[in-house]
Amino acid sequence: MRALQLQGIEQLVQVTLPVPVPAGDEVLIQTKAATICTSDLHDIRSNPFGIQYPRVMGHEGAGVVVQCGAKVKDLKPGDRVASHPVIPCGDCEECMRGLQHLCSRMGHSGIDRDGCFAEYFLQRADRVRKIPGDISFATGALLEPVAVCLEAVYRAGNIKEKTVLVVGDGPFGNMIARLAQKQGAGRVMVYGRTPFRLGMIPGAEILDTVPERSVDVAILAVGNAEAAESCIKALRPRGRMVVFSAAHQPVLVDLFSVHVLELEIAGACNDEDKIEEALACLSDRTLALENIVTHQLPFDNWKEAFDLARNGHDKALKVALVFE
Ligand SMILES: [Zn+2]
Ligand SMILES: [Zn+2]
Repeated sequence: MRALQLQGIEQLVQVTLPVPVPAGDEVLIQTKAATICTSDLHDIRSNPFGIQYPRVMGHEGAGVVVQCGAKVKDLKPGDRVASHPVIPCGDCEECMRGLQHLCSRMGHSGIDRDGCFAEYFLQRADRVRKIPGDISFATGALLEPVAVCLEAVYRAGNIKEKTVLVVGDGPFGNMIARLAQKQGAGRVMVYGRTPFRLGMIPGAEILDTVPERSVDVAILAVGNAEAAESCIKALRPRGRMVVFSAAHQPVLVDLFSVHVLELEIAGACNDEDKIEEALACLSDRTLALENIVTHQLPFDNWKEAFDLARNGHDKALKVALVFE
């Protein structure tokens, strides 16, 4: 099968590999669509998660089940499915506390095991969901991106009638802004730098500058220090910042403001059991998530697809590799 293997920094290479065989609790999925994530671009550029080379990349995938391990009950060949890449161990201390998304022995497609930038990929069956017939494979590939965006919104606490600022206009900032509106925020404002991307967030107020001391919630959806500082400055007393994207370097935080204004800072990483809710969101017409995937390119055009994901901010949100 054709696959994209990361072999070193800035070394993504097309290779031919044998089709993998599912273990007892796994399914083999024939990939139909796999979307490129901002984190894939970081992995290629600097490998912040310490991927061991070589590794087939890709963690946002949808396709058709072609083979099931002996212990798989709820899926069968022919099922149209989407995969969630986070694989909790189920018995570490974090898993026992109910925080499977923060598992200390977590597996993750495309990081510690081969992922879905390939004609076929394996996934543990409990991390796979059937998708309704009216959801395209490219939209199905958004299952986990939507789930992690839901986590970002939930980590903001009760946002009903509150003022929510999203800093960052990439695919994640865009989805978070849509989901915050769905969760009943009073006002959703977005600060970003790309007119095309900002124009893809219906219902949100688009800002030229980040406001000061006036929002209840500020969600950081871009990984740079300046954006992080602007989130802290935007919060009113007792406001909460949610760190969804983080700079990979430590950022100075104005703890004096945190102290005197009783601000809160919450992280959001992966998602705590949001897989079913994310699946429902994919079918929610008011969210129109299908337009998050702006480009679908045949697998063989993968270089063009990655270039678009990395540099095409003026015309692209999510880019999908598709297999006919
Ligand atoms: Zn992702
Ligand atoms: Zn665990």
